Amino acid sequence: MTHATNPNGRIGQTKRRSLIEFLKRHLLTVGTGAVVALLAVIVGLQLYSLERIERFWGAYAQLWRQSYLSEVAGAVEAHYRKTAELAFDDSIAELSDESLGRLETRFADAKLEGVRRLFVVRWREADETGKIESEQLAAQFQAYAFDSDKNRLVEISQNTSAETTAILAASLPWRLLSKQTAARKSVLLTEERDPNHRIVLRTVADENSHIVGVLGFVVDENYVRERLLQPAIDEPFPKYFPGTMATNVVVSIFDREEKPLHVSPPTTEGLGDTVSYKMPFLFTDWNLQIVSRNTTPQQLARNFYRTNLLLCGLATVSILGCVGLALYSASKLMRVSQMKSEFVSNVSHELRTPLASIRVFGEFFKSGRVGDAEKMREYGDYIETESRRLTALINNILDFDKIEGNRKEYKFDRTDVSAVVADVIKTFEMQSKEHGFRIVYDQPEIALPLVKLDRDALTQALMNLLDNAVKHSLDGGWREIGVVISAVKNSVKISVRDHGIGIAPEEQNKIFEKFYRVSTGLVHDVKGSGLGLAIVKHIAEAHGGAVTVESELKKGSEFTIHLPVEKIREIEKAAL
Ligand code: ATP
Ligand code: MG
Repeated sequence: MTHATNPNGRIGQTKRRSLIEFLKRHLLTVGTGAVVALLAVIVGLQLYSLERIERFWGAYAQLWRQSYLSEVAGAVEAHYRKTAELAFDDSIAELSDESLGRLETRFADAKLEGVRRLFVVRWREADETGKIESEQLAAQFQAYAFDSDKNRLVEISQNTSAETTAILAASLPWRLLSKQTAARKSVLLTEERDPNHRIVLRTVADENSHIVGVLGFVVDENYVRERLLQPAIDEPFPKYFPGTMATNVVVSIFDREEKPLHVSPPTTEGLGDTVSYKMPFLFTDWNLQIVSRNTTPQQLARNFYRTNLLLCGLATVSILGCVGLALYSASKLMRVSQMKSEFVSNVSHELRTPLASIRVFGEFFKSGRVGDAEKMREYGDYIETESRRLTALINNILDFDKIEGNRKEYKFDRTDVSAVVADVIKTFEMQSKEHGFRIVYDQPEIALPLVKLDRDALTQALMNLLDNAVKHSLDGGWREIGVVISAVKNSVKISVRDHGIGIAPEEQNKIFEKFYRVSTGLVHDVKGSGLGLAIVKHIAEAHGGAVTVESELKKGSEFTIHLPVEKIREIEKAAL
């Protein structure tokens, strides 16, 4: 059996794999790009919807105001519909004397408000054709008005008053249509041809669907103006205009002569964006109006748009800030993790090489092959130096571990700084001589104040600085290390100066970070863990001071530990 390989498939697979590799490697960039793109889409949609809201807001506000006015008008209509329901007997199908009697009782019992006059109009007999001569017209009606004092229906003499005329005028069309079965029966109607006598009426039809008369009442306009309007305006108001919206509208009602019946709040000011509404049932010649007082809905929408735009901008900026921060810390973490792995390989290398040499020299001694005393001293020296270096390295690592875990403790004692420096130099001189370095120590001319410091910690910091001065100057420069102690106003400064390769300005801050090592140029081959300066910095800061560097490429570097005397005094106080 043979396996046919598909080259296209393999190419596809390789491409996919390299794409996955690419994505893995650029995960941060790809992720950030995706987040930013998503953010851009969200912001775009947000702006689009804000613009739509702004555009429609004005129309919605107009509808909203209209709906409020219709509720106000509806309250008047509802009142009179209810009144008609209470006053008129739906079951009445003829207007005989007996029915009039029943109506009297009903009118007397019904507690009606806003009614000036209740009336009943019935037809006198017409001729058989149903035709009525115009001059006989008035004689065709029998009109009764309800006398509420006597609780009786009293026949009203025709053409005596404007009210009677209005009642008869309202009844007339129904008299003319009385034989038309298609005429609207039993419908509640209004008649406002005489605005001083607005009438609500209902036709009465017999079993043949012939209209035999009308029941009705004359509306009491004063009641509407004085008792009905105010609650009709007030009741739905908070529902439509809650909170601060209430102070932004003026509600007015004008009668047919454009005279204001009601303005609330009592001010004529308004921004001209009037929404009008005509009463639909009664008082159809009145006009309900609403106008903005301080801000029109359009202005409100603009403000709303601007505020949201601002918030949207702020949200975007903060999200971008967070993304930037996350990116920054992620890249920092990545750098630290990369430096950590470099650290592991550096340290292993640093440990392995001297240990191997020590083992070889140990074997030499054991086998007794080294007879020459000179050689013996040389090998012994080597073993001693290397073990000292190893101890220093291990001390650094252990110390760093304590610093990271916040477990590093300091024992501050009143100490003479120059004595510590002199001791360190003495110990270090052996090491430096081996590489041909000379240490020039400038003793301070005046006596330094005794300061509280941790002797071991300061020793370790200085050893690290001296070690660096040697280690990073091996490949060039002038083999002399200067150590200077000086006391300025409130601090004591210890400087270690070399004439080695120097440090580029952009690296000068980074070298104090844990694991960081300058990886270009000559320094590339120099061994180390990248912890030395991080420890020096921690020690200096624990003393209330700092470490600084001044350096120029190819000229050399000067590291200075500043120990502020004042701060040291504070430490002293804290320790006491
Ligand atoms: P070790 O942990 O063994 O001290 P290291 O010396 O490499 O390792 P640090 O002492 O923290 O680590 O120094 C960090 C880096 O700063 C060094 O790798 C080196 O690149 C640079 N550096 C420090 N001191 C000097 C100096 N005197 N001259 C030039 N470069 C220096
Ligand atoms: Mg170092």
